[in-house]
Amino acid sequence: MTEPALLPRILVTNDDGIHAPGLKVLERIARHLAREVWVCAPEVEQSGAGHSLTLRRPLRLRTLAKRRFAVDGTPTDCVLLAIKVAMRGKPPTLVLSGVNRGANLGEDVTYSGTIAAAMEATLLGVPAVALSLEATSGQDPDWHCPEHLAPALLRRLLAVGWPDSVLLNVNFPNRRPAEVTGVAVTRQGRRKLGEQIEGRIDTRGEHYYWIGPVRAEEGDPAGTDLEAIREGKVSITPLHLDLTHPATAARLASALS
Ligand code: MN
Repeated sequence: MTEPALLPRILVTNDDGIHAPGLKVLERIARHLAREVWVCAPEVEQSGAGHSLTLRRPLRLRTLAKRRFAVDGTPTDCVLLAIKVAMRGKPPTLVLSGVNRGANLGEDVTYSGTIAAAMEATLLGVPAVALSLEATSGQDPDWHCPEHLAPALLRRLLAVGWPDSVLLNVNFPNRRPAEVTGVAVTRQGRRKLGEQIEGRIDTRGEHYYWIGPVRAEEGDPAGTDLEAIREGKVSITPLHLDLTHPATAARLASALS
């Protein structure tokens, strides 16, 4: 059997920061798929940064090694500076974001810096996949699952392809690769962060608040990313960057005409 053709260039980024274990896992995954692997990731963790862009202060693009950079900004800043500056004239064929420590399911996708990096790449015309690994609190996730399953899965997804305004949100269950029960193409479920807000008092007697990880799940989970991960499957959700809701647009247009 001949080896599958390698892509010219993959850009790897994340929101957990340049030192995150999941970034190293994703670099190894990318090396199976491309001749050149470029890395550009935030200097410090940016989980929950969403699709934010740094506009009110300058950004530093720090060169760490050949094809390896850190930015003192958000995941969106990283993708923008990587493609427009560091990789200028040598655009990536694919952007991979992750592997995030913790799943990005349901409404997590609207807060996630991991997803936002893939959004930014998509907006710049580069196909992108966000990868996340389910993590139970207080427990170190088992990185073997994405490491072993992602290369073949990404090859299959690339062979099928997806439209320009779409990115893929891939979540891995926190179990051994052999214990994964399948791959499911899913829709985005409903699970909202912000259920747990702890009010405490600091060392100077002032109040502070800390948003905890507890989420409220609602709606029918059938066919969702949430259900797939609960069943031990790898979840693949195609996300569309056009947030327009056509049914409501049609209803408003006819009501207002
Ligand atoms: Mn993160």
